[in-house]
This record gives sequence, structure tokens and C-alpha cells, in this order.
Amino acid sequence: MLERFKIDDGRHFPAVRIDEDASTAAGAARWRAACSCGRMPAHPAGTRAQALAAHVDHARTRLGPTRGPAWLPVGVRIVVLLLLMLAVALACYFGGLALVEGYDLTGARAASVRAGSVLGGFASAFGLMVAARHFIAPTQA
Ligand SMILES: [Zn+2]
Repeated sequence: MLERFKIDDGRHFPAVRIDEDASTAAGAARWRAACSCGRMPAHPAGTRAQALAAHVDHARTRLGPTRGPAWLPVGVRIVVLLLLMLAVALACYFGGLALVEGYDLTGARAASVRAGSVLGGFASAFGLMVAARHFIAPTQA
């Protein structure tokens, strides 16, 4: 479960550190990279730049292209998503207001319908974001 979560989030943070054994053998600092996903294959220790390059190679094999349309830049996709989220949240908010007016609600009931519509709006907007994430962020190859 945890393992699957790690793969799904698609994040690969490098952790570069000096390999003591290799450094002693080579008589100079030798670096080795590991990945936050824990699935990076071992690579020969080398310079810090080589270790980082090895991590980049690993991340490239793990991350596929985004599933969104190629003609739409990622920055634009994020803006579109934010606008959609805003529209969903506003639609819920005004839907709540319309309910209050339509049923002539007053006092606590009106307040709870309004609060519910705001919460529902946020929840829907968040759900939209989760559903759309594969179209924006790189996916697992
Ligand atoms: Zn990784």
C-alpha cells in the first residue's frame, strides 16, 4: 500500500552521498546517488555530477510523458484546472444561495445550507484536481 503510494506520486528526489569504501579505494571522494522512491538501480560510484546524472537517468525511465494534450503547455493546463476549480466552487456557492432563496430559508438553516454549499464546493474542486492530476503531472511509465 505504502509502496504503491510512493510509485503513484511520481516523485523522485535524489539523495547523493559519499561512498566511503569507493572513496578509500580510489583515494578521492566518490559519490553515489539513491532515490526517494527506493527503486533506483545501483550505479558505479563517481563524481558528484556523475551520481546526479545517474539519478536523472533513473527518473527519466520512471516518469512517462503527461497524458494531457501535447499542444497545451503544462502551465496553461494548470491555469485551466484552477479556473475550472474556481468555477465549480462558485457554482456550488451560488447553488447554495439559490437554495436558500428558493426555499425561503432563514437563520440557522440558511447558514448551514450556505456553509454546506461552500464546503461542497471546496470538496468538488479538490476532487477535480485529484482527478485531473495525471493530465498535468508526469505519469508513471
Ligand atoms: Zn526514483
